[in-house]
Amino acid sequence: MAGFDGQSRHAYRPLGGWVEAPQDPQPELEGQASADVVIVGAGFAGLSTALELTARGAKVIVLEREFAGFGASGRNAGYLAGGQGLEYDLFLKRVGHEQAKQIVSFYDEGVDYVERKLAEYGIDCDYNASGIIRAGVHPSQEKKLRESMRMGVELGSPGEFLDDAAMRARGIPPAFLFGCYVPSGGTLDPGKYVMGLRRAALRAGVRIYENTAVVSWTEGDTVTVHTTRGSVRAPFLVLATNAYTPQLGLLRDKVIPLRVSAIETEPLSAAQLASLGWPRREGIVTAHWTMESHRLTARNTLVLTTKRLHYVYGRQTPNVPDEASYRELATGLHERFPMLGDIAIRACWSGYISFAYDALPVVGEAGAQRNILYTAGCSGHGVGTQSLMGLLLAERIRGSGHPLLSALHHKTPSTLPEPLQWCAVNSALGVANMLDDRVNRRARHAVIR
Ligand SMILES: Cc1cc2nc3c(=O)[nH]c(=O)nc-3n(C[C@H](O)[C@H](O)[C@H](O)COP(=O)(O)OP(=O)(O)OC[C@H]3O[C@@H](n4cnc5c(N)ncnc54)[C@H](O)[C@@H]3O)c2cc1C
Repeated sequence: MAGFDGQSRHAYRPLGGWVEAPQDPQPELEGQASADVVIVGAGFAGLSTALELTARGAKVIVLEREFAGFGASGRNAGYLAGGQGLEYDLFLKRVGHEQAKQIVSFYDEGVDYVERKLAEYGIDCDYNASGIIRAGVHPSQEKKLRESMRMGVELGSPGEFLDDAAMRARGIPPAFLFGCYVPSGGTLDPGKYVMGLRRAALRAGVRIYENTAVVSWTEGDTVTVHTTRGSVRAPFLVLATNAYTPQLGLLRDKVIPLRVSAIETEPLSAAQLASLGWPRREGIVTAHWTMESHRLTARNTLVLTTKRLHYVYGRQTPNVPDEASYRELATGLHERFPMLGDIAIRACWSGYISFAYDALPVVGEAGAQRNILYTAGCSGHGVGTQSLMGLLLAERIRGSGHPLLSALHHKTPSTLPEPLQWCAVNSALGVANMLDDRVNRRARHAVIR
């Protein structure tokens, strides 16, 4: 990988590999405005909430610091995945079997919800309903994968074990030895999805103010949200700021931002594609402690994400390159797809997810009037869940409530103060990296033999 450092500097995309700043930037908020609901953050959660509320007759204003889609929603890997393969160990004992089943059904419902909305809003985002495979790259991963799959099935989320013969019969690239196949969901272009939501919201009459940073709010029967050059008054405030929420002073002891990185190759030639097989192009994730994700895109590139996570001291979220993670991902690319040789990297980027210690969604109400709603967490599963959250929050605000929202209520464990937090999170990530590196070394030796 000697030459990769220079290449990754050249390929770094501060806005990610899927979106550009929109051609029709919405104005910055200047002066006073009012609405029925003011939403902060224009990712999947903020835009979906705005659309659902508007459909119920509400006047909605969305305030976005950069542009709609700037956050994780415009930078993710595009897996629309349900409740199989969640971090069950982190929450099952805390919430109990019955609530865990409902939570898993929330994740599964997220997949159906997005599929319905793509059709309803007429969004073409290259969705490939291929299902998803959680794969092992070394036999030592099989026991954990089978156990996680069994748990998921028990909690109501279907999955089917594919042995080596079944993987080869599907034409899955040979580095992936066995896996758990989940028939629902698949992969999409998250940039096209979030920009489609933005267009749908503008068409529906949602007022979106971009380049408008919220700095604070004042509670009351009517909440006043203060931005750098204006303010909005509304009976309800929704904070859809995900990993950035702690910087606004809320959920500081509930979620931490984790940096996730991605690389994308140049388009594969017809011969390179043929060398892969992979006719159905299922989204593949691995059974590592920190998973790897590998998928083909509609433009015939390969996108790899995760493998390394990074926590920045003090819950900060700088929009900077993460060279070490890109290098690790490039190593993963060459190890999982040796048939592609030294294929060039066209883009590298990073973004932030928010993580609660139990890996569950963090959704709730704040303020004496309970009229400040927030949604964060969902970790690396926000394509479905943070979209569905729009429906749940809209029904809460319009009075009817939704059973899945009640199902998500639980006590989120508290995070640690700094510098303990930094030490604890980076130690845990370090151990995960060490265990994963050991698996990768064994997989490498198995190939050489
Ligand atoms: C590299 C990567 C890969 C991922 N892969 C997947 C995947 O394959 N599948 C999956 O399901 N999930 C994946 N995720 C997670 C998923 O992208 C997120 O869970 C989801 O996009 C969160 O959506 P959101 O709307 O809650 O937050 P975001 O999309 O982060 O939106 C929050 C918005 O708030 C704005 N904001 C912040 N502060 C302020 C302020 N003060 N004033 C105004 N606006 C503000 C931000 O600019 C941002 O646009 C991935 C994430 C990353 C980073």
